[in-house]
Amino acid sequence: MSRIPSFPHGLIFSKLLYLGLVALTLGVAVIGHPHPGRGFAVEFGVGLGFVGFVMLACQFALTAKFRRISQVVGLDSLLHFHRQIGFFSYAFILLHVGILFWARPGYIAYLDVGADPLRALALWTVLLALTAILVTTLWREKLGISYEWWRVGHAALAFVILFIGLVHILRVGWYVSTPWKQGFWISGTLAAVGLLVYARLLKPLRARSRPWTVTRTWPERGRSWTLELTPVGHEGISFQPGQFLWLTLGETPLFRAQHPFSISSGATGSDQLEVTIKELGDHTSRIGEVEPGTSAFVDGPFGNFVLDDGAEEAVFVAGGVGITPIMSILRTLWHRGHPIPSLLIYGIPSPDEATFLEELQEIAADAPLRLVPVVETPPGEWDGETGLVTPELLDRHLPEDHSGVRYFVCGPEPMMDGVEAHFRRRGVPLSRTHSERFNIA
Ligand SMILES: Cc1cc2nc3c(=O)[nH]c(=O)nc-3n(C[C@H](O)[C@H](O)[C@H](O)COP(=O)(O)OP(=O)(O)OC[C@H]3O[C@@H](n4cnc5c(N)ncnc54)[C@H](O)[C@@H]3O)c2cc1C
Repeated sequence: MSRIPSFPHGLIFSKLLYLGLVALTLGVAVIGHPHPGRGFAVEFGVGLGFVGFVMLACQFALTAKFRRISQVVGLDSLLHFHRQIGFFSYAFILLHVGILFWARPGYIAYLDVGADPLRALALWTVLLALTAILVTTLWREKLGISYEWWRVGHAALAFVILFIGLVHILRVGWYVSTPWKQGFWISGTLAAVGLLVYARLLKPLRARSRPWTVTRTWPERGRSWTLELTPVGHEGISFQPGQFLWLTLGETPLFRAQHPFSISSGATGSDQLEVTIKELGDHTSRIGEVEPGTSAFVDGPFGNFVLDDGAEEAVFVAGGVGITPIMSILRTLWHRGHPIPSLLIYGIPSPDEATFLEELQEIAADAPLRLVPVVETPPGEWDGETGLVTPELLDRHLPEDHSGVRYFVCGPEPMMDGVEAHFRRRGVPLSRTHSERFNIA
């Protein structure tokens, strides 16, 4: 079914590549450096500064949403990596400043606006920007900052730190004395800024020439709405069931919030798409108000949550609205008339809130799909599984033999953590497990 290359260890490979790149830039700094060392503390502090700077520059690549990379690594994994690396990068830059102040107390004078206003202003700006970026990332919700404004501010602050960082590296000149080294740092920084411009400006501009429109909307169980999207004046996109897209609603894709949603319709050859969206936060809680005729812009498809050609059997574990990408896979298999034996363990608060339940029951009646709804608060007459998706419950249903089986899990974070850990305990190979995490911030 899938045209996406199978690359099960893509994330590990990408992390090694990333480490290699960071090491390479340290190597570039040291090669041909004519001066003797300045003591361990100073050299260590300077090294941290270079590493933090390179990691910060790479952050722009991690968030540039390249489709090919998302198909190998998974965009959710990439964005989680971006978040983790972000903390290290900012910590390294702060440590760079702290260690140098400690090792050479004379440097503290650099904060004195009276001595060298430009240098002091730059240093203060970086320190404040670093603090702001850390505080708003850790406590965004408590501070009442919307995701959209946080994202704009986050990119702007990162850009400011990067720009001042480059000027600082070039002005200090230590380890960067030759023209080729200066060119290396300048072009690396320009590439990072270019990626920001590409992701935030060029891509939305390109999307403007391929508009979509919302042709129908209807409510689903579980406080969700399905939006049918139809391409206007173009042939739409070709996707693999299980993939997702970034959706912008409104007259223009420029400077508007983009939200990721899995495609819930099957890959049936139609140019129309459906996304099913749960009412959750400031954007999605108003999704039911979207009128047919509303303009939309689609960036995608992304992701590697797809069934590959070698799959002989599939196990799906879904929780709540995490059913959407799985629904697309099941609909496609059913539509194509070649369903493979599948098991769907579906965690739901109650049957009334189970999105797509009737259609799933219909597929299960007609295709080799074993549907196991797991109801958290069951009604009186319920005789199926109840409670949460626990290891014991999984053991009751999962196949003993893993060969040919592909495993998919998508749902709330605690459920996914528990299910993934239990898959590992049961010896399910990582290469056969696909996870899609909806919480990427
Ligand atoms: C790969 C993927 C597929 C998804 N598929 C679906 C789906 O099929 N159906 C569905 O209902 N939900 C899906 N989601 C979740 C959906 O994107 C968020 O629920 C939605 O963006 C929340 O927006 P909000 O402004 O209403 O919520 P808020 O309350 O503002 O935010 C809640 C959380 O959603 C995330 N979020 C908010 N805005 C954005 C944004 N612009 N970009 C990225 N993340 C954001 C953040 O983690 C935030 O903490 C998916 C998420 C991902 C990553």
